[in-house]
Amino acid sequence: MDPLPINDNTLLIGALVVLVGIVVLIVLVGVFLYNAFKPRHCSKCHAEMPVVRMPKNMRQALWGGWTCSNCGCELDRKGREISGK
Ligand SMILES: [Zn+2]
Repeated sequence: MDPLPINDNTLLIGALVVLVGIVVLIVLVGVFLYNAFKPRHCSKCHAEMPVVRMPKNMRQALWGGWTCSNCGCELDRKGREISGK
């Protein structure tokens, strides 16, 4: 018996693995884009944060987050107010 039989079943399984991989990749990219672009709101005044943000300091450039243009409080990338400010 051939130790590595290449037949129709092998090709079918290979195609299925590739297909599942592509679907998983699309889902992961979709989740990533959804999280990156879903609207955030200021936890203090509930103003909507702009999707395209201009980092106001090093931490925002590195980790994301906003300075609320409405009330001026600092938010992290999940829209939570940063304490100690
Ligand atoms: Zn605010």
